[in-house]
Order: sequence, then structure tokens, then C-alpha cells
Amino acid sequence: MDDNGMRKKKQGTHNDRENEKTQIIIPGDKLGVIEEYVPGQGTFTNDGNIISSVIGKKEISPKTRSISIGPARPLTMPTLGSLVEGQVTSVQDKMANIRILKVGEKIPSGFFTGVIHISTASDDYVKVMPFVCKPGDIVRAKVISDKNRTYQLSTAEKNLGVIHGFCSRCGGSLFKRGRILQCNTCQNTEERKTANDYGNGAQ
Ligand SMILES: [Zn+2]
Repeated sequence: MDDNGMRKKKQGTHNDRENEKTQIIIPGDKLGVIEEYVPGQGTFTNDGNIISSVIGKKEISPKTRSISIGPARPLTMPTLGSLVEGQVTSVQDKMANIRILKVGEKIPSGFFTGVIHISTASDDYVKVMPFVCKPGDIVRAKVISDKNRTYQLSTAEKNLGVIHGFCSRCGGSLFKRGRILQCNTCQNTEERKTANDYGNGAQ
């Protein structure tokens, strides 16, 4: 870019395409004119101008010449096949509710909950859910259905299950001792469906 171009950019002319890519648009910002562009999602027109009605990032389709406002940054939410980590909030005989705290390595954009049903909790037969996980435990699970934004989770695979458990008697951390878990405070022993790397993370 020559000196002239640099100066133009600093002055913020309408041809300043570079800035448009990163700039956050707020409601009321003028985005262009209808002679040049087609008003798209998140915009309205006024007196020949295309104006933003939402917060986000300006997107111009090269094909249709439409201007729309997209999300300022991509949303992180669970989808089919996502690996999630979360805390068990409640447990019944046949199911457990999970508050999702991580999607892959990212913090989710919003509040998401999931459900583990006993049929997808383990490859082995489990009689009741408290043998899989208990409230307060941190679990790693896979999203096996996201229909209607209800996240059905599975902990059946080897790398899935409880990654950090807490003693149901005193709340202390449970440590793996062979096939069982033992509380390091009160020595109480408990059973869980653990992930094969139990205790290596989420301490
Ligand atoms: Zn204990």
C-alpha cells in the first residue's frame, strides 16, 4: 500500500476494507448504501442507507453483494460428537444431569446441560446410576444426540467417565486404588465408572 493509501486508511474512508473485517458493529452503524449492496440479516434500510440493527461483525457476500451482521466471535456450544467435561448436578436411578463446563478445550458460550442415561453410561452392566457417578463429580462424556438442544451424553468408552470424584460421605477427593476409589480423608471406598486417565487431570 502506498503512502496515499495509508493516509486514507487512517482517515477511515468507506473503502477501508481491512478494518471492516475486524471491526465490531453496533446497532445504528451505517454499513453501506442500497445502490451498492443488498441489505441482509441484522440490518435495516433508512433513506437509501443500510444500517445495522444488532451487534456483531460485518459480512459481505461477494456473490449476492448482501451485507449482513454475523456473530462477533464464533459460538462454542456442544454438537453431535463433541467431547465435553462437566459437573454432575443430580443423579437418579437411571440418569444423571450434567452441567457442561468445557466443550473440547473451550469454555462454552452460555449455559448448557446434558443427560447421561444408564444405558449409555458404561459398556458393562450397571444396576443404578450412583455406581457410575455422583453429584459433584467431574465427568468427561461424548455428545451422542443434540436433538432439540437436549444433549444426550455417553460415558461408555474407555477414555470417558468420571475424571475426578468426590467422597459422598465427607466430600474429600477420591483416589484410584486398583479398581476402586478411596477417599484420602475418611478412607471410605466408592465405585464409579472412571475414565482410564482418572486422576491425571481436573484435580
Ligand atoms: Zn471421605
